[in-house]
Amino acid sequence: MGKKNEFDHMKLIREYAGGHKHLITIGRCLAAVSAVMTLIPYYMLWKIIRTAVNGEELEKISSYAWFAVAMIVGALLVYIVALLCTHVAAFRVQANMRSSLMRRIITLPLGVFDEDGTGKIRRTVNDSTTATETFIAHNLADKTVATVTPIGLLVLVLAFNWKIGLICLIPAFIGFICMMSMMGKGMQQKMKEYQDALDTMSSEATEYVRGVPVVKTFGQTVHSFKRFKECIDGYGKWTTDYTLMLRLPMMGFMTCINAIFAFIVIAAYVVTKDGITNAAILNVMYYIIVTPLVTIALTKIAYSGEAEMTLIDALKRVETIMAIKPLDEGSSDKKPSDNGIELRNVSYRYEDATRDAIEKVSISIASGEHVALVGPSGSGKTTLAELMVRFFDVAEGEILIGGVNVKDISSAELMKQVSFVFQDSRLIKKSILENVRMAKPAATEDEVLDALKKAQCMDIIEKLPDGIHTVIGEKGTYLSGGEQQRITIARAVLKDAPILILDEATAFADPDNETKVQAAFEELSKNKTLIMIAHRLSTVMNADRIFVMDNGKCTEAGTHEELMNMNGLYKRMFDEYTRSIEWKVGA
Ligand code: ADP
Repeated sequence: MGKKNEFDHMKLIREYAGGHKHLITIGRCLAAVSAVMTLIPYYMLWKIIRTAVNGEELEKISSYAWFAVAMIVGALLVYIVALLCTHVAAFRVQANMRSSLMRRIITLPLGVFDEDGTGKIRRTVNDSTTATETFIAHNLADKTVATVTPIGLLVLVLAFNWKIGLICLIPAFIGFICMMSMMGKGMQQKMKEYQDALDTMSSEATEYVRGVPVVKTFGQTVHSFKRFKECIDGYGKWTTDYTLMLRLPMMGFMTCINAIFAFIVIAAYVVTKDGITNAAILNVMYYIIVTPLVTIALTKIAYSGEAEMTLIDALKRVETIMAIKPLDEGSSDKKPSDNGIELRNVSYRYEDATRDAIEKVSISIASGEHVALVGPSGSGKTTLAELMVRFFDVAEGEILIGGVNVKDISSAELMKQVSFVFQDSRLIKKSILENVRMAKPAATEDEVLDALKKAQCMDIIEKLPDGIHTVIGEKGTYLSGGEQQRITIARAVLKDAPILILDEATAFADPDNETKVQAAFEELSKNKTLIMIAHRLSTVMNADRIFVMDNGKCTEAGTHEELMNMNGLYKRMFDEYTRSIEWKVGA
């Protein structure tokens, strides 16, 4: 299977197992020994039947029986030791995989961690490594047994009476063909589609749960979450198609492996055609006992094949993360000379996109200047801001902070220079104190409180049961989006970096929150270089300069008055904005 897939999953597993890789080999060898030992009692059974049928040396029956029992117990013990080996190796592989993933993740560009990316990464770190662990711990030994048993069975079935053996093998052979047709080329792709569908449903379900307040407030139903409904419908269709696709081969497989018994009747007819002899009875009885093993062996092969495909899919997901190119760490230790930012001819295109999200943008922001980025939705404001903090690296051009290319600034130094509060800035499941302190681990409790005050968070703290020691997300602690954003602003206040990138929130449930967030932004941006991604034009009028983005290009720049006089996109947007306010008042 490994060779067929080009993707050598066993090689990869051995690499992750490191020094424990021998345990995998030992585990598999022991499982093979156990499989052979399991078959020996059937040979003993044949001997017992022969002795009984011939009526000779009856005293030997009990020694045959004891030997069979010893083999069964021995096989079980050997199998337990095999599982022990594979379990130890599996835990090691899982631990190594997780630490490799985490080491890689920490070096990845921040842009990888968007809403969608974070969920996928989390699921890969949790689920794909667990799937790998389960396969090595449990299925690997089973797989070895499933490979060795048929070979032993073939010997057992053909050795005593090849005619009966061959007749019994006819349905087994057809069943095997049916099984291989199920596992054909499309199956790995199907497994991927299945896992993808589960991934999408899980992300959309999270979105749906997050949106429950909106759903309730506006009396919506699940149907308003179009993407959620579509992915459930899609999954339903996928499962139906998949089941229908497998219906015929599965029917064939099940019928064949269960029909082996019926073929013994035909075989019995063939071998007793010329008269019923002791030997014929002995053989037929023997095959009645042995052939159910063929059914079990084929079922095991089918299931171990399915488990292996799940494993290959899981490993591919892990490798996808490992293949993401890390950000080159700034090689020089140059320090920015001031807090100005300059973009020279910057272009950027998202992976798989057909056009540039940012196209040849050149702007210069002086140290201490307050600027706003405005433009229609999708014009590139967020991307431009994210490029400044190396969420991604520019495809063309360069970005300089204090005269130094951001690529030459070490990531630690860059993070010291710049704070950013994006709309989806997240809090972690720790106390408010710890959440804010992340910005400056050495900060005292008083400093944290001061930052929270400046970020207008005191009303939030007061209503929490344990004040700043309240753990977010526990005991029903719920913070609204605006409240969470204010806590993240407190983080930025505490960090006190000289350059600030703020993403103005688009929508708030209550005006009080909105006023407080604006006030917190004002406090935060005092004496700093500020780049504000503005979604509403009311907040940009006082900016020193406004850059207007349109389709990835910076088309206009200037103060509010200058832009109004230009009579371009900004003026059109502003007029529309004014009309919308009038409309609201009129309504
Ligand atoms: P704005 O902030 O002005 O709304 P964005 O910077 O978010 O605009 O988006 C600019 C363009 O890049 C849009 O066409 C958007 O669809 C695209 N884009 C944004 N984020 C991604 C992403 N993670 N992957 C692919 N395309 C993206």
